[in-house]
Amino acid sequence: MTTSKGVYDVIVIGAGIEGSSSAYNLVKQGLRVLLLDQFPLPHSRGSSHGQSRITRYVYEDEFYVRMMVDAFPLWSRLEQESGVELFTNCGVLDIRRGGCPGMRRALDALRAHNIPHESLSSPELQRRFPVLTTGQGDVAIWDPNGGLLRADQALRAFQTVFKQLGGVIHDNEPVTSVTPGSQVVIATTKSVYTSANVVFAAGPWSGPLCASVGLHLPLKPIRISVFYWRASDDYREMYGSSQFPCFIDSRGGGSHFHTYGLPISEYPGLVKVCPHEGPSIDPDDRDKGTDDSWTEEGTLATVKSTFKGLATTPSIREYCIYTETPDKHPFLDQHPRFPNIIVAAGFSGHGFKLAPVIGKAVTELVLKKVPTYNMKPFKIDRFEPRSHL
Ligand SMILES: Cc1cc2nc3c(=O)[nH]c(=O)nc-3n(C[C@H](O)[C@H](O)[C@H](O)COP(=O)(O)OP(=O)(O)OC[C@H]3O[C@@H](n4cnc5c(N)ncnc54)[C@H](O)[C@@H]3O)c2cc1C
Repeated sequence: MTTSKGVYDVIVIGAGIEGSSSAYNLVKQGLRVLLLDQFPLPHSRGSSHGQSRITRYVYEDEFYVRMMVDAFPLWSRLEQESGVELFTNCGVLDIRRGGCPGMRRALDALRAHNIPHESLSSPELQRRFPVLTTGQGDVAIWDPNGGLLRADQALRAFQTVFKQLGGVIHDNEPVTSVTPGSQVVIATTKSVYTSANVVFAAGPWSGPLCASVGLHLPLKPIRISVFYWRASDDYREMYGSSQFPCFIDSRGGGSHFHTYGLPISEYPGLVKVCPHEGPSIDPDDRDKGTDDSWTEEGTLATVKSTFKGLATTPSIREYCIYTETPDKHPFLDQHPRFPNIIVAAGFSGHGFKLAPVIGKAVTELVLKKVPTYNMKPFKIDRFEPRSHL
């Protein structure tokens, strides 16, 4: 191990989408920023790899809709800065059981921010999207401005612009210890650095990293299967992004597993329909042992009942990890004892679209600025006040 005397204003641990966006936002403030990752980049071991993610305004919680109001133009700005097209506007369908309380909350949240949307009954839904078969009482919210983000490209775009602005990335360099103080000392397998601030954006590895500085947070990594289903020749065009949207199906219960999906966009002829659930795993042994055949069975039930012309065996299965919190909101806060340690973790399967505003919020926390967003839902002590002190 060599010991260099790297001194930074901020060190960001984790070059997934949240850490990369944070580093990009921090360097724009003129700060000296080091972005560290344990693996050679790019990699497919965490949560930010793969070709696509859904982005949308529709959320049940008003504070997320508020964040998305800023996130959409910030994604456009990144497209301009990087010269890479990151977004396809195919719209998003949020499919639910009629009369569920979440539907009302989501509609109220959209109205509060004047976000264009439509409520669709089951017959309207099937008329508009003829590949769908929905139950009589099912409903949907149509979010016409949502769509698909090119995930791998977005991650690369943040890192590229970060480096162009003078940021430093060290990959293949795991952090082995963090010693809090007015200058935080960060040891890695290759070096030792000091920094005025540190951001923990370690995705599924955040639990042990936070515990190393006395924060015991309820973070649970789960393995999510990403399935691609072949569309038959008659239906292939109807599943393209000019005719078919991204969707979230939260009807749940019976034959309807909680799923989400995207139009054909990455692998020719293959539609992405995935479970929103999976088994608890250790991210260092992600693919080891644990039986998750139930996720394929549950997703297949939805594929069969809801989508016309799709094969009943997935052509491709990939893996990715969600890091869940009990209320599905991330931790985005400063350490209660060491305010120069900022935690951004636990994005619970919906953090990609939020990345531009997460980076902005992290930067405000580092600079001790008045927050733009409502940070209360993201507090570290919201479950067990002060138990970590
Ligand atoms: C299958 C799937 C589908 C999803 N779909 C959507 C969607 O449609 N829309 C949406 O908005 N969100 C979606 N998400 C969620 C979104 O992708 C995640 O919330 C987001 O990628 C989390 O990013 P992260 O930066 O927190 O974690 P990660 O991407 O895992 O990054 C953490 C990084 O930290 C590094 N690291 C960890 N420990 C150390 C250490 N000790 N030293 C150095 N480096 C370290 C890791 O190597 C890793 O690169 C999906 C997630 C999955 C898995």
